[in-house]
Amino acid sequence: MPIRRLLYCLAFAIMAHLSIPLSTDAQKATPRQAASRQPLDSIMPVRGFCIDIPRPTGVDSFIHFIHDALAPRKVNTLFILVDYRYQFKSHPELADSQGLSLTDVKKIVLACAQEKIRIIPQINMLGHQGWEEHPGKLLQAYPEFDETPWVKNPAKYVWPNDDNLYCRSYCPLHPKVHEVIFAAIDELCDAFEATAFHAGMDEVFYIGESKCPRCGGRDPAVLFAGEVQAIHDHLARKNRELWIWGDRLIDGKTTGIGEWEASYNNTFRAVDLIPKDVVICDWHYDRPDQTAVYFAMKGFRVITCPWRISQNGVAQVDDMVRFRNESTPEMKDRFLGIVETTWSSTQQFLNGYYGLTPKNPVREHTAYDCFREVFQRIDSLGN
Ligand SMILES: [Zn+2]
Repeated sequence: MPIRRLLYCLAFAIMAHLSIPLSTDAQKATPRQAASRQPLDSIMPVRGFCIDIPRPTGVDSFIHFIHDALAPRKVNTLFILVDYRYQFKSHPELADSQGLSLTDVKKIVLACAQEKIRIIPQINMLGHQGWEEHPGKLLQAYPEFDETPWVKNPAKYVWPNDDNLYCRSYCPLHPKVHEVIFAAIDELCDAFEATAFHAGMDEVFYIGESKCPRCGGRDPAVLFAGEVQAIHDHLARKNRELWIWGDRLIDGKTTGIGEWEASYNNTFRAVDLIPKDVVICDWHYDRPDQTAVYFAMKGFRVITCPWRISQNGVAQVDDMVRFRNESTPEMKDRFLGIVETTWSSTQQFLNGYYGLTPKNPVREHTAYDCFREVFQRIDSLGN
């Protein structure tokens, strides 16, 4: 066990044993302020938080965090990034050795139900099939699904590289891929009792590769939209919504938003090809780009997602309020709200949030500071 985790576990065990409540710093309104304020649900319907699924040893501390930090801030939506860190029964070959059991998941489900938090679990679809030096569980178990099997993982990863390798993709036209991933999606949504599923689909760099015998020569926008449609239609059969990240639907070159937060590989025209009831998670971390308006004008419901820079996160809260206030009745309700992202392991985030690890002197901005400030701003808006 890493020493940091050990220290955290010890601290948590001592606090739990002594029944000393961990501090919460959610801001309270004065009665006078409260009396004059509107219900938060009408001002910011989605108040969300996005984090990795905990390891089995971290479930109890994560549940403590739900009650101690999310509930007091009136968080009502929780993205849990799972991928294959769950003990799948339908496809045990996909299950990560650090995956949660159904019993673990039900503990999280109960905690969220008690706090009226909607869980939206995620498995990355299409892109993000592994990281840098190695493929992920899907492509380890089914290497034939790889969109670029000729690209070898380097011993030491660097970016940029000659293969333009960021993360691998599965081939959306492989005849067997959906049978496998849809079973995993169904099992995970059942376990989390979820009414929506987050399919990721961000930062897809490999799509429509010329050497893929199925995709070569096809339009990347049509391929991307086809995969969104397939997942959407599968979920719809069980009355579940599809949520995805928005970057592949933004024209990176024309907007200047670039090839990460937007698309340089001609997927962006899919914005006019996918079903309008897909919820777009529009992430912008370095600038508070106003692209939520673009998605709402296209007919989508949209949320804005900050990460580490508190100043941007607070501006994004204010923008979301302004978009709702200054839009037509047709557009207003498409601006759903804010989901704060974290992009570290659950344990790392909790350690930082509870001050159990020293702040990195090189890294000025942290997701836990941004989380606090974003929700302080949201709390100031209403009841
Ligand atoms: Zn292909």
